[in-house]
Amino acid sequence: MSTYRVQNPATGEVLEAFDTAGDADIADAIERADDVYREWRMRSVHDRAGAIQRIADLVRERSAELARMISLEMGKSTSEAVEEVEFAASIFEYYAVHGPSLITDYEIPSSIPGKARIEQRPIGVLLGVMPWNFPYYQSARFAAPNLLLGNTILLKHAEICARSSLTVQEIIEQAGVPCGGYQNVFASHEQVSTIIADPRVRGVSLTGSERAGAVIGQQAGKHLKKCVLELGGIDPMVVLDADDVADVAQQAWEFRTYNGGQVCNSNKRIIVMNDIYDEFVAQLKKRAEGLTPGDQLSLGDGEYVPLSSRSAAETVHAQVQKALAEGATLVAGGELAEGSAAYYSPAVLTDVPVGSHSYREEIFGPVATIYRVSSDAEALQLANDCHLGLGGSVFSTDESRAARIAAELEVGMTHVNTIAAESAELPFGGVKASGFGREMGPIGIGEFANQRLYFVA
Ligand code: NDP
Repeated sequence: MSTYRVQNPATGEVLEAFDTAGDADIADAIERADDVYREWRMRSVHDRAGAIQRIADLVRERSAELARMISLEMGKSTSEAVEEVEFAASIFEYYAVHGPSLITDYEIPSSIPGKARIEQRPIGVLLGVMPWNFPYYQSARFAAPNLLLGNTILLKHAEICARSSLTVQEIIEQAGVPCGGYQNVFASHEQVSTIIADPRVRGVSLTGSERAGAVIGQQAGKHLKKCVLELGGIDPMVVLDADDVADVAQQAWEFRTYNGGQVCNSNKRIIVMNDIYDEFVAQLKKRAEGLTPGDQLSLGDGEYVPLSSRSAAETVHAQVQKALAEGATLVAGGELAEGSAAYYSPAVLTDVPVGSHSYREEIFGPVATIYRVSSDAEALQLANDCHLGLGGSVFSTDESRAARIAAELEVGMTHVNTIAAESAELPFGGVKASGFGREMGPIGIGEFANQRLYFVA
C-alpha cells in the first residue's frame, strides 16, 4: 500500500492511494521553487498580498468540500473541520491585510555617523513538514507569512492527509501564486533529508513529534539551515479555585477532547486544588460516561469521533494501560474499539504517580489526566516539572493570584481563565523541548526573513 493515502479512520477503509515522489520529481520541485523564488520576490508586496487574499477567499468558498476532506482523512467532526477551514482562511487574510505593514523597512538610530535601516527580505526556498492533526491550519500558518514575504515553499504533509494537501496547492495556484511557488511533495523521509541538504533550500519548519523534531533539527543544523520546530506539549491547566466548578470542568473537558484530544497545546495535565478536586473529577466523570462512537461526518450528541488512525488509537490505549499498571485510576472511558476502526472512548485518569513514566509522557488523544495539589506553590512546581513547555493556563476568581502563577510558568504561551487563545494575530510556539521559533502574528513573519541592514555613511 502507498504510504500517501486517504483512509477513513472510522472504518479503516482506504479511499485513495498516491505514489510517493521519485527522486527526479524532488529535484524538479526544488529547481522550480528556486526559479519561481527569483520572480516572486521581485513582485510588489501588494501584488503578493492580493494573491494571498484570494487564497483566503477561495478557501472560504470551498469550505464545505475542504471540511469533508479532512474529516474523512483524519477523523475530525464536520463542525470542527469547518472551524479549521475558517481559521486557515483567517490566517491568509491576516497576512494579506497586515503583512505588508509588518515587513516595511524601518530606520534605527545609529551611534556612528550615517543612516541605518532594516530591510525585511525573503531568504529563498523553504521546506515545511506538517502533521495531520490540523491539515489546513498547520500549512496556512507556515505558508501565509512566507509567501507574503516572497519566499517559496515545498510542503511535505503527513501521509494520511494526501488529498487535502494536494488541494491546498491547487487553491494557492488558482489564487495567482505562480506554479512552483507552493508545491506539495509526496516525499519519503529520505527525500526530506535530500531537500534540507540542497543549497537552494534556506530553511525548514516542522510541526510534529519530538522524535521528528530531533531528526529535522539535526539535519538543519548539519547543513546550517534556519529551523523552526513546533513540537508537542503536556500543557498544565491549573485550577486554583472556582465560583462555578462545573463551568471550569466543562471548559477542561471540551478543550481536552477537541479534535479527538490530538492537539499539541491541549490541557494534558489538569492540576486542581484539593478543596474542589473531588467535585472537579466528578464533573469530568459525568461528561465521559455513556458516550458512544459516531460518524465524524454527522456526529450526534453524546458521540465521539475516531482518532486519526487505528495505530494512534492503539498507542493511546497502550499508554493508558501502562499508566494503570503504574498505579493510576481510570475513572471513566478508555475503551478501544475492536477491529480496524480508530475509536477510543474519551477517558478520565487520576492518581498518575508523580515521577512515573506516564507522568512524563504526552498522551495524544482524549484523556483528561487530573492531579491533586494543596497549595499554589505545589501547583506551580508540578506545572513546571515537565520537559515540554508549549502553553499553560491558570484559573482563579482572583486574577492577581492566577497571574502570579502564570508569570512563573516555563512555557511559550500563558493564559488566565481560559485554556488557550488562538487567533491569526497571536504568536504560537513553545520553549524547552516543545521547540523554538514562533508562528503567526507579527513575530511569525520574521522567522524566515532576512532582516538585512542597509547603512549609508
Ligand atoms: P510525526 O512527528 O511523526 O509526523 C509529523 C510530520 O513529520 C509528518 O509529516 C511526518 O511524515 C513527518 N516526519 C516524521 N518523521 C520524519 C523524519 N524522520 N523525516 C522527515 N519527516 C518526518 O507525528 P505522528 O503523526 O507520528 O504523531 C506522533 C506524535 O507526534 C503524537 O503523539 C504527538 O505527540 C506528536 N504530534 C504533535 C503535533 C503538534 O501539533 N505539535 C501534531 C502531530 C503529532 P510521515 O507522515 O510521512 O511520517
